[in-house]
Amino acid sequence: QIVLKDFTKTFDGNTVIDRMNLTVRDGEMLALLGPSGCGKSTTLFAICGIHRVNGGQILFGERDVSNMPSQQRNVGVVFQNYALYPHMSVFDNIAFPLKVRNDSKADIARDVRTIAELTHIAELLGRRPGQLSGGQQQRVALARALVRKPDVLLLDEPLANLDAKLRLEMRSEIRRIQLETGITAILVTHDQVEAMSMCDRIAIMKGGQILQIDAPKDMYHNPRTSFVAGFLGNPP
Ligand code: ATP
Ligand code: MG
Repeated sequence: QIVLKDFTKTFDGNTVIDRMNLTVRDGEMLALLGPSGCGKSTTLFAICGIHRVNGGQILFGERDVSNMPSQQRNVGVVFQNYALYPHMSVFDNIAFPLKVRNDSKADIARDVRTIAELTHIAELLGRRPGQLSGGQQQRVALARALVRKPDVLLLDEPLANLDAKLRLEMRSEIRRIQLETGITAILVTHDQVEAMSMCDRIAIMKGGQILQIDAPKDMYHNPRTSFVAGFLGNPP
């Protein structure tokens, strides 16, 4: 499990997250849902090690990773813009994290093949990112994030750049891949339907605070505040 204990983040003396507590259970997909500027990405960046914490702790199981550099945390990350390397083939994009780790050629070929089959891009390995659709590029980004078998998968608005039809398709694809791998995942989104349709639990954020964490149905039927109710589209 992943635990944030009194996690605090400040930018230039400005506190944007004040002693947040959050537990992400093993194997679950948790949505961090909330309006723009509430601190979703900041929280995700702290978990993956892009941001240092200014207070509190981040634990992966028993391991305190608060002061560990990103590379040592074993997280897979997918951002809104998939940030693929445009001059490399799909194969080389996915293989990149394994080459950095100095895996053998044979191991790399096997692991890339396995993850490409899981994400349904096995026939695209020879192409460049520019020769792929948005949905296909996102599958490559997912494959690259998962190829090292990370302990946790972090997704920051991964569907925001897709058109409506692809977004629907990729919602269920990301969920399928998460369930098949059994990986613990955090999905950052400001789209309540996305959160409700993809995740086991939802954490509603506002102004750097978590207001409520529940399974989608429970939260929809028993919102603890009118903000939560309104945000889920079920106002009193
Ligand atoms: P969005 O849905 O728009 O992506 P978010 O919930 O991801 O919003 P964050 O990016 O986490 O929001 O930002 C939370 C707050 O922290 C905002 O007020 C933002 O202006 C501030 N902030 C984020 N990054 C920095 C930074 N590098 N320097 C200063 N302030 C920042
Ligand atoms: Mg954000």
